[in-house]
Amino acid sequence: MRVLVNERGAARLLGRHLWVFRRDVLSGPEEAGLFPVYWGKRFLAWALYNPQSDLTVRAFRFRPTADPVEALLENLDRALKKRLPHLEADPEGGYRLVHAEGDLLPGLVVDTYAGHGVVQVTARALEPLLPRIAQALRPHLKSLLARNDARLRGLEGLPLEVRPLFGRVPEHVVVQEGRVRYGVDLYAGQKTGAFLDQRENRLYMERFTGERALDVFSYHGSFALHLALGFKEVVAVDSSEEALKQAQENARLNGLHPRIRTLRANAFDFLREEEKAGNSYDLIVLDPPAFAKKKGDLERAYRAYKEVNLRALKLLKTGGILATASCSHHLTEPLFYQMLQEAAQDAHRLLDLLHRGGQGFDHPVLLNVPETQYLKFAVFEIVG
Ligand code: SAH
Repeated sequence: MRVLVNERGAARLLGRHLWVFRRDVLSGPEEAGLFPVYWGKRFLAWALYNPQSDLTVRAFRFRPTADPVEALLENLDRALKKRLPHLEADPEGGYRLVHAEGDLLPGLVVDTYAGHGVVQVTARALEPLLPRIAQALRPHLKSLLARNDARLRGLEGLPLEVRPLFGRVPEHVVVQEGRVRYGVDLYAGQKTGAFLDQRENRLYMERFTGERALDVFSYHGSFALHLALGFKEVVAVDSSEEALKQAQENARLNGLHPRIRTLRANAFDFLREEEKAGNSYDLIVLDPPAFAKKKGDLERAYRAYKEVNLRALKLLKTGGILATASCSHHLTEPLFYQMLQEAAQDAHRLLDLLHRGGQGFDHPVLLNVPETQYLKFAVFEIVG
């Protein structure tokens, strides 16, 4: 049994993109599974295949193999090898062990929080392999929880469920990140519990010191914690009460609660009101959610990104620092910097780019798959 794609689908796989959409699939089995993909008689790749999904073909290997499951497990092995030195050096840390397409394991995400794993499967063809995947992860983890409650599973025709796969899964774990610690609720929380892709960027921010800092779109106060090491007062703003409760707990956990104030607000309204009140800050972090989830959202999203950045720039003192991120891959890196340039021009502020960052090493980027490069992070000093 094989999947046949048209010329356009073939061009994608020959160019080493991993995806072929349904419109470019000519024929294939009725059931989801691991299948070889052909263009006429020409073998192209082995792929996860799901005829029910618009994203029908997701390749994981470009050479033939007699044992596709073994080939997938080889990819898993490669992903783990990349992370193991870090896990050994930093066993209480939080890391992404498997980053789906980025690790040639489409539809699979595995994170570890101080040795406790969380796995998420969002490809139907992978679902039956979960026990094998868990077995391969076992030597590296104290416990493993399947957090299969992602909405994406619905699109793949998969049930939503959360269940332990091995070990004793604690409700709550404490993760060390540089000089701070934070709590993770394995069973709830956004994503698999924390935003690990910003780890290196949060650590980068520890170098700054001053009087007043602002962490907007703060979630669990993760940036705020690092900032509170060097600032006398940090305000953490988020629209989620739940998230801020955890932010307060994290502040206490580190003895930083006298310096961190949490505030529930819509970021747009908050920034506008701060400007009206004439308040200013020495440093602002902006880490908004993906405003552009689909390509069609891009124009509106661009304006939203520009608005928060513009407003933040107006609140910063000269000599102040803006650290700003976008996690939407539709807002490409060139567009991200264009948006920031426009915001700076409109705010009449001159910005010196101190640091250009992105997602951590454990969220690998495949050059041929632009979708894998999604996080942009830039730090500027306001010089005029
Ligand atoms: N900086 C965090 C991750 C931020 S995720 C970290 O490093 O862990 C984005 C956050 O923005 C979420 O917590 C979400 O609740 C919040 N959010 C979304 N829309 C918002 C809005 N309009 N105003 C304020 N917060 C918002």
